[in-house]
Amino acid sequence: MIQIIKNIQFIIGEQTKLLVKPLLLAILDAFLNMFFYGVMILGIVRLVERSFTRDFFIQCVFFLTIVFVIRLFLSRFTYNSMQINGSIIVTKLRIQLADHVRGLNSGFFNQNSIGKLTSNFTTDIADFEQVLTHNFIDFFKAFFMVTIGIIAAVVIDVRFALIIVIMILVALPLLIVGGAKGNKLAGTHREKINDVISRVVEYINGIKTFKLYQLSGAKFQRLDQSFNDLKKSAIKVELSLIPYVMVFSTIVSFIIPVALVWGTYLLTNEASSPESFIAVLILSISISGQLMAIGMLYPQMKFIAKSADNLREVLSAKPLNYQVDALDGANHAIQLEDVSFSYENGVPVLKNIYCEIPDGTTTALIGPSGSGKSTIIHLISRFWDVRSGKLTIGGVNLTTVKPDALTKHISCVFQEVYLFNDTILNNIKIAKPNADHSEVVAACQAANCHDFILKLENRYDTIVGEGGSTLSGGEKQRISIARAILKDAPIVLLDETTSSLDVDNEREINQALDKLMEKKTVVVIAHRLNTIINADQIIVLNEGKIREKGTHFELLANNDWYAQMYQEQVSARNWVI
Ligand code: ADP
Ligand code: MG
Repeated sequence: MIQIIKNIQFIIGEQTKLLVKPLLLAILDAFLNMFFYGVMILGIVRLVERSFTRDFFIQCVFFLTIVFVIRLFLSRFTYNSMQINGSIIVTKLRIQLADHVRGLNSGFFNQNSIGKLTSNFTTDIADFEQVLTHNFIDFFKAFFMVTIGIIAAVVIDVRFALIIVIMILVALPLLIVGGAKGNKLAGTHREKINDVISRVVEYINGIKTFKLYQLSGAKFQRLDQSFNDLKKSAIKVELSLIPYVMVFSTIVSFIIPVALVWGTYLLTNEASSPESFIAVLILSISISGQLMAIGMLYPQMKFIAKSADNLREVLSAKPLNYQVDALDGANHAIQLEDVSFSYENGVPVLKNIYCEIPDGTTTALIGPSGSGKSTIIHLISRFWDVRSGKLTIGGVNLTTVKPDALTKHISCVFQEVYLFNDTILNNIKIAKPNADHSEVVAACQAANCHDFILKLENRYDTIVGEGGSTLSGGEKQRISIARAILKDAPIVLLDETTSSLDVDNEREINQALDKLMEKKTVVVIAHRLNTIINADQIIVLNEGKIREKGTHFELLANNDWYAQMYQEQVSARNWVI
């Protein structure tokens, strides 16, 4: 219970104060509820004593009506305030979660599959919201009512109160054990949900490939299997809690007969008055009813605990830290000093890299596949931080720079282009949201995509499918170059395409790339002979180490890997690395 509140508090932080008002209202309601029982007890006592007068009856009716009306409003008010505050809390939580995830380094997204994050953003938050706005207050109200009931019982007759407490203590472990079991199962259940989401996403993304390679049967089987696993686990979760809740309810429902027997015993031995006997009996009815409500709501509270746990895990993931809010300097020279890096699996990918990329120059990275070229580009964009050594831009250590501040200075054009399911105009303008139309057109002209855009049905307002699925690879590539040109960032990170494009497309893309690279500090994973020869510096990587470094002519003179590759490719007249 305390853990639940602690987790909720950790997640919603300062907003916990929004829960205070509904909780206070619930306590007030619980007190008023006791008035009902109080009046009922008085009434029955009068009946037994044969002193139940008409006046007393009218007083009771009057009093009960007032309490009833107050409770009616109070209930509504509590409910409304919980709904409204709950929505505020959850909205802020969603924003906070999104902000938090944005600040994490990309490594986080590798360890955590899409399924898990999707489920954090959908299922966990939805569960959290559902329980917070619906069951949370009911649970605590029942809890207060039981507490007040026990206090009243202590006042009336300590011996009786003791018996109720003992029965609760006997029944409670059942809920705790059942809850712990439910918690464990809820964990595996959540994994199954994540698995289903991952499979569905995989299936939808890969549907073309599956069809092409006739994999749909095998892939469908995996999808079916994950659905079946989910079904089994859902049934298991539901069934596992039932026995515990049932036995708990049975035990607490016995509070009433036990009160009757114990009360009768005390009464016949004249150790108690008829008034206390009646009061005790009615209290036992109230307490037992509320305990049953707790039993029913407890599994729900466990759900919020599980969701809270999951959300807590995401929120506890350490964001990239930074001390420098903005990268102001005019100098965008990039320097790697003794940089080593490995991904989460710990396999060294870059080993003691030293290199300097002077401001306004182009550096071409070449080398066999897997030699670490893309990794260097990822480190410069701070997708990950270096494990050791130092990576600086304009002399500022990247590990101290706010990721958003860094992105402002960098344009990336990678091989895989992702376009949003939106108009072409908006897809380009994400690079510079306040750009006017003429700027966008100028960028598109420079990127050789203006002409084909004009031929589309709605020109710049044509909506491209999700991921840009209605455009060809070459067209998407040029749009991504137009984006980068529009952004006009001083640093350009480029992964030249190797995908086989038709000759026209290739020429147009090459021209566009040349435009983009003009006067910038460029790091390019180069595949075109032209880019490589014209680069100010060529770095040849091999197995995470720099094998050669220099200009085209220096490397030719070096007569190593580069010279050999160059000779081979030139004689074949077909330079593609
Ligand atoms: P290149 O771009 O030169 O082909 P990369 O920089 O992509 O090479 O990869 C260098 C090495 O790092 C490869 O051995 C690759 O398998 C490994 N690698 C790349 N990305 C990851 C990742 N996210 N997790 C683990 N290993 C990775
Ligand atoms: Mg690569």
